[in-house]
Amino acid sequence: MLQISELADGQHYPTGALYVVATPIGNAADITVRALHVLALADRIAAEDTRNTAQLLARYGISKPSIPVHEHNERSAAERVIEHLRNGERIACVSDAGTPGISDPGARLVDAVREAGLPVVPLPGASAVITALSAAGAWVNGFTFVGFLPAKAKQRASQLRTLAKHPMALVFYEAPHRIVETTRALLDAFGGDRQLLIARELTKLHESLHRCTLAEGPTWLEGDANRQRGEFVLVVQGAPEAEEAEDAHDALLSTLLEELSVKSAARIAATLTGASRNTLYERALRLGKRQEEE
Ligand code: SAM
Repeated sequence: MLQISELADGQHYPTGALYVVATPIGNAADITVRALHVLALADRIAAEDTRNTAQLLARYGISKPSIPVHEHNERSAAERVIEHLRNGERIACVSDAGTPGISDPGARLVDAVREAGLPVVPLPGASAVITALSAAGAWVNGFTFVGFLPAKAKQRASQLRTLAKHPMALVFYEAPHRIVETTRALLDAFGGDRQLLIARELTKLHESLHRCTLAEGPTWLEGDANRQRGEFVLVVQGAPEAEEAEDAHDALLSTLLEELSVKSAARIAATLTGASRNTLYERALRLGKRQEEE
């Protein structure tokens, strides 16, 4: 029988291609055979943090020249990567953890390489969003990945308002120092009834998955300092099906009101939703006042 490593070995890996390679989100064993094969085959690794990646690769017995590609240099790094690809190299793009481009650098590099007419080959693997969702349960019926919310309270509240009526589950990433604040913001924006999954330190020693309601979330986290440590994915149940209530278009109106007058916001919302312009105008007036007070 063909060994699995021989299967990866026997496949075709074009030269001059960018390989987007998922790495583990905490557990070094969570890497695919194909990822290891491509990392070993690559001429160069484009990495978010070259030291981190060197340490990770050392665990697999791999050492390669690297190109740093982070938030602040993605464009210039892309030029270097493209030059090497044009010389016929294979380059693997990795981030610090999980899948590049998912709340991580990588997406702009992918754009640039594709615009240069060169192939981009994705190698699937770990990602915190999918790992959390796989253990969430049937109350998650479709989802929208939001990632990190804005750090500033006002912007965060404003983004959450636009999501308040979203019918699908919402997935957020959060860091330990903001986890309590963020669960409180979710409670304020969506009310206490919806289900919440707090997925912490996935695939690691202190992994925990706690399901509760939004009302219970912040108190549960505050009940033990250990519950606030590590990396988090939050999954929030989608909005219950609502009748066309007077607040049906609040999210849209609130967003429009950030840039437009009450009159213009009502006019555009009426065009987009088909609802009465007068009703929307009355509602926008009230929302406008509420936004001013916040
Ligand atoms: N690209 C990564 C992915 O595919 O999941 C995400 C990178 S993003 C910069 C880091 C965030 O992902 C963390 O702040 C946390 O919200 C989430 N995350 C990463 N690893 C995690 C883990 N092991 N457990 C829970 N959340 C994790």
